[in-house]
Amino acid sequence: MKNTPHEPTHSRRRFVRNMTLGAAFIGTGAAGSMAAELAEATRGGERKLGVVLMGLGLYSRGELGPGFKHTKACRLAGVVTGSHAKGVKWSRKHGFPERNIWSYQTMHEMAGNPDVDIVYVVTPNGLHAEHTIMAAQAGKHVICEKPMASTVAESDAMIAACRKANVKLSIGYRLQFDPYHIELDRIARQKDFGTLTRLSGEHSWTFTERAWRIEKTLSGGGPMMDVGIYVIQAACRAAMAQPVAVTARELPKTRPELFNEVEEAVEWTMEFPGGVSCHASSSYSRNNNFFRAEGAKGWIELNPAYAYRGIEVNTSRGPLSLDGVPQQALQMDDFAACVATGRETPVGGSMGRDHMAVIEAVYKSAAEGGRRVEVAKA
Ligand code: NAD
Repeated sequence: MKNTPHEPTHSRRRFVRNMTLGAAFIGTGAAGSMAAELAEATRGGERKLGVVLMGLGLYSRGELGPGFKHTKACRLAGVVTGSHAKGVKWSRKHGFPERNIWSYQTMHEMAGNPDVDIVYVVTPNGLHAEHTIMAAQAGKHVICEKPMASTVAESDAMIAACRKANVKLSIGYRLQFDPYHIELDRIARQKDFGTLTRLSGEHSWTFTERAWRIEKTLSGGGPMMDVGIYVIQAACRAAMAQPVAVTARELPKTRPELFNEVEEAVEWTMEFPGGVSCHASSSYSRNNNFFRAEGAKGWIELNPAYAYRGIEVNTSRGPLSLDGVPQQALQMDDFAACVATGRETPVGGSMGRDHMAVIEAVYKSAAEGGRRVEVAKA
């Protein structure tokens, strides 16, 4: 899916520089106001907000834990884990006190603990609702990993619990803070290539292990829930809208012994207002990672599109090259700033819920022979 630029080098260079400038200001509003928010969040640098990671699996270990080295407004204050010994290792490595190690059964005891401001739920998808509600009931603001939940009904319950506890809820959509995806937003909004009407994307990876990701109650579904959701997010950004309807089909299983509870692969088309459409797919049996958006005046393609780092972008005017802080650090700092200033997070529960509504429509369409299914409105 790689494309060759068609324009001469000098105009390509100018385009890259202009885009870099644009991105610097669009990511967080004005750079100055973000700095002011971070200063407010940390009370002038005196105190970073305390984040507790709930679930110390691969994502916490590989990305979120290390991400705290780059955060300006929050610090790792503790963990919730099923293994106290693992918690002790984390406390030594990250320098938080052992009293800030909770189990899933004792985490309610963090209520009233001033060392903890935010709980970050990083457990299997099917537990997100229960764990988010537990954190909210302990009076803590919540970041919950994607997918927000397994169903729209669970998402609604999470939003209601956070509202009742007067805490903020955000979803771990790290790409919202990635400079290339921010640039995609800008291109869509400012119509550099005209209205982006033809969208396509895929996020697939080859799954081999036996783990919760293929157990329906813990995963909520297969690759659609795990990584297909990234294509939905990118398409909603490029279309600047929620899809109105979908058509979908599940692909035949090549490894039915592994995928007997969830889909192995699914393809779906999202219909947006104004004649915009996105053809998307997600599979646990191939490796693809791209998003492409085309308008009457040009195109942009991200490939890989959804990576933690090393996203590559080409456009009909040439490639883009932007610098960036790790996505997870930007994401956590933005939420800390929201908590401190009262600003709404751009990746709130309503976004998570909107995407769950699309996923439910995709599964419904696939189950009903590819019938067009309208996406339920919030
Ligand atoms: P993982 O299997 O590596 O870790 C899951 C953690 O949950 C483990 O520490 C496990 O002990 C704990 N857990 C608690 N109760 C459990 C139970 N009943 N069964 C199984 N595990 C239980 O998974 P992961 O890859 O770290 O994914 C965790 C969450 O993070 C998922 O929701 C996933 O979608 C999300 N995630 C997001 C990104 C991203 O880029 N935003 C990347 C990877 C994972």
